[in-house]
Amino acid sequence: MPGRQRQLKKSTIDCDLHLHTNHSFDCESPVAEVLRWAETKELDVIAVTDHDLVTAYLEAQSIESKVRVIPGVEVTTKLGTHLLGYFITEPIISKDILDVIDEIHDRGGICSLPHPYRSDTGLIYNQEIKNLYTSDEVAQIIEAVDLIEGLNAKCSDSDRNKTEQFKTKYAHKIHTAGSDAHQPYEVGRARLRLTVANADATTMTDDELKIALLNNQREIIRETIQELGSAETLTLSVIEGARKTLELSKSLIPTGVWHRMRSVYMRSTGAVKVNNELKSLQSNRKSKEKVL
Ligand SMILES: [Zn+2]
Repeated sequence: MPGRQRQLKKSTIDCDLHLHTNHSFDCESPVAEVLRWAETKELDVIAVTDHDLVTAYLEAQSIESKVRVIPGVEVTTKLGTHLLGYFITEPIISKDILDVIDEIHDRGGICSLPHPYRSDTGLIYNQEIKNLYTSDEVAQIIEAVDLIEGLNAKCSDSDRNKTEQFKTKYAHKIHTAGSDAHQPYEVGRARLRLTVANADATTMTDDELKIALLNNQREIIRETIQELGSAETLTLSVIEGARKTLELSKSLIPTGVWHRMRSVYMRSTGAVKVNNELKSLQSNRKSKEKVL
């Protein structure tokens, strides 16, 4: 009884602190869809963090939803490194990375360092691979930000492992999580669970939410593919016959989602094995054709 479980949940709030909408140049998710998926995934708080734009928040405010929306932005700084600004309702003007952090703070916002090892947009990648920053500069930037994104659901396994080590190195910093969703169904793939007395994100003031983000006990949770496979939201069933539904749905579902659903179905039913057999039959046939 998910509804009942939700009613009993009074001591924590679940937040996805990094996601995009169709206000970003590289994302087509309508704001209403993002909110709908956030509700489906039982998130209490999302931060909309479009690339260098803050306009999605205005749209989100006009949509009725149980989910609290934090106005945010993912700023592209001068050398390409990204920073997240929370509680920001106007575009950030500064470009130099330390100036951006100052500007976020001057406006009463909170600054987070996302995906440190991502190519071209991660601070540590830009230091280690592109030599864009000295060690001193990196140390200064890390001390200046309020939060470090300890889990980004879009990162590769290798980047995730490096980020785990990074978190250990900067254990004194405050760690968060975000899905970095660029598709509505990706919302909630990483979440930050904050312990909050009398948790009700809809009635908390901005200041209460800021204090909770900066101080409260937390847990970082990653949604696994198994959970995705059992999610009703993907209308995916592991029973025999799901394949047919899947094939029928193909024309109605965006290609990326369909491939994801298919892969979950294949894993959950042992169909991977069948598929491999099929592939080997096909390659046998091809080699026979060549011989002929
Ligand atoms: Zn992002």
